[in-house]
Amino acid sequence: MKITYYGTSASEAWPALFCNCEACNLARKYGGKNIRTRSQALVDTSLLIDFPPDTNYHAQRLHLDLRMVHTLLITHSHHDHFFPYDIFMRSANFASDLPKFRLSVYGNGTIEKRFYEAAELYDGFDKFVVFYKLEPFDRICTEDGYEVTALPADHNQPEKSLMYMIRRGAKQILYAHDTGIFPACTWDYLEGERFNLVSFDCTALSRGWKQGHMGFAAVDEVRERLRRMDCINPDTILVLNHFAHFKDYTHEKICAQENPKGYEVAYDGCVYEF
Ligand SMILES: [Zn+2]
Ligand SMILES: [Zn+2]
Ligand SMILES: [Zn+2]
Repeated sequence: MKITYYGTSASEAWPALFCNCEACNLARKYGGKNIRTRSQALVDTSLLIDFPPDTNYHAQRLHLDLRMVHTLLITHSHHDHFFPYDIFMRSANFASDLPKFRLSVYGNGTIEKRFYEAAELYDGFDKFVVFYKLEPFDRICTEDGYEVTALPADHNQPEKSLMYMIRRGAKQILYAHDTGIFPACTWDYLEGERFNLVSFDCTALSRGWKQGHMGFAAVDEVRERLRRMDCINPDTILVLNHFAHFKDYTHEKICAQENPKGYEVAYDGCVYEF
């Protein structure tokens, strides 16, 4: 399996549009891995996670091939994860020579509502795109061959924000964005699961947040519990992702602090294969 991170920021991007803070100015100065767009990741070539407003940019500049995408999993309705209008560019009016399959979009009840509100502008969209509602703990098999399980996240309640376990063959990913320290029912469900890669919400960086989002300390706590439960082992790739501008952090500074602890620090365009 392979995961490509196309966007690795929190909702405001980094540098944030109108922001003059030190972290944003350092990102403007150094560029490269310090420039972060809104979160989106691709598993292998056909399973896409989240659909931010930067999807278009990811396709134009980072070579995200949306024609190959069969399955789209949405975590929750915050705009940095779900900008539905561009999904309907997958129609006869805007896309020629489409592959024969429909794009399958999965999300919670809030996503379902926003999806159909946006769809009103696009007649006949259902020939090209189909929506499936997910409830927490639903386990589905996608047409492109993945077993996906939706787990409750601690984020934006009462919306049922979801994180995802994504399995193909013997390999499995836990994609945990956006979330604070996992809810008790999610911990119960994780018993007996094994992961080759875990993607952690690290929005808060050095702030001590444990609910809604996590920072370094909360991620350490979650990793320790996953380790005690044997959900991860020394070979598991542990990725920090979904960063918000803060203090004087740069990509290099986060790496210097977190790489020695065994974490990878995601940046736009990074790829992990396992
Ligand atoms: Zn977010
Ligand atoms: Zn800033
Ligand atoms: Zn969010």
